Amino acid sequence: MEKIRLGRTNLMVSRSGFGGIPIQRLSSAEAEKVVRKAYDSGFTYYDTARLYTDSEEKIGRALHDVRDKIIIATKTTATTKDGVLADIRQSLKNLQTDHVDILQLHNANPIPDPNDPESNYAGQIEAQRLGLTRFISITCHNYDNAVKAVKSELWDTLQFPFSPISTERELAVAQLCKEHDVGAIGMKGLAGGLINHAEPAFAFLRQIGNLLTLWGIDHEWQVDEFAVLENKQPKLDDQLMSMIEKWRKDLAGDFCRGCGYCLPCPANIPIPMAARMPHHLRESPDSRLINEEWKAKMDLIDDCINCGHCMEHCPYELNTPELLKKALVLYRERYIKVKGKY
Ligand code: SF4
Ligand code: SF4
Repeated sequence: MEKIRLGRTNLMVSRSGFGGIPIQRLSSAEAEKVVRKAYDSGFTYYDTARLYTDSEEKIGRALHDVRDKIIIATKTTATTKDGVLADIRQSLKNLQTDHVDILQLHNANPIPDPNDPESNYAGQIEAQRLGLTRFISITCHNYDNAVKAVKSELWDTLQFPFSPISTERELAVAQLCKEHDVGAIGMKGLAGGLINHAEPAFAFLRQIGNLLTLWGIDHEWQVDEFAVLENKQPKLDDQLMSMIEKWRKDLAGDFCRGCGYCLPCPANIPIPMAARMPHHLRESPDSRLINEEWKAKMDLIDDCINCGHCMEHCPYELNTPELLKKALVLYRERYIKVKGKY
């Protein structure tokens, strides 16, 4: 598998990294199988987080015996020095190791004041001093925060969404990382599940020379798919580019990335799926969504109490209730077309 130098960390890692969100959905045995297969296929970079329920534990169980052959990055959402130290100690226990390679602040917003001795940044520095992490890093979903973080040169890597439907200015963040020798790590290469074909995304992102891309994986066949793409790398030809152009057209404007930071919703609306319903209606067979189960879930949108929680927590500054309302209108139209009545 192709390797890449991860900015000033000087770590040499596989350019395809293993994203640890989706294995939460699997049983322990299934997850360990998928993670181990990734290792056997050449993945050397594993990204997880305290927030991802049992993802750390599953990776720890699958890879503790090859710890010195892999790079582990985890994240903390703590906002204080003590919180970061408590989190990293728990992460190390879960991952069955005495240190991680990269400790990231998870979607830090705003980015911390480096002069505050009790901040989460101070916690990262202390964790590094204690040998609990080799490098310190930050993940951002917000463009302005990402630029600020890279320019500050306080962190060794930046994790930021990079996908074929990113805007030009978002893609330029990778170049900014290069100029500051900050390792560039791409999340949401498939736009949070909105892109359902890996080859064009892989070819597009591989053009960004300094980018490591995390792929969220929860099936062995996906490991095989990325291993094949790595071994026989596709060129971004006209055919692949036209697929990307179609996605850009379909997903133009504000769209939900499915990250789930807006949850929980007091009205129990499954926001990540419901807000992306227009896209899913285009891409999925009717039988998957036009049914009683999804009708009941979409109807919850009528119960929105406009509490504002989703908008306050959306890193993409989306007007989530508006997106949901539009999604509900489209859903009902399709439902009536398929079933004859609502
Ligand atoms: S504003 Fe509506 S959709 Fe958003 S969290 Fe509140 S109840 Fe849920
Ligand atoms: S509305 Fe925003 S926070 Fe919620 S899932 Fe979509 S992108 Fe993420």
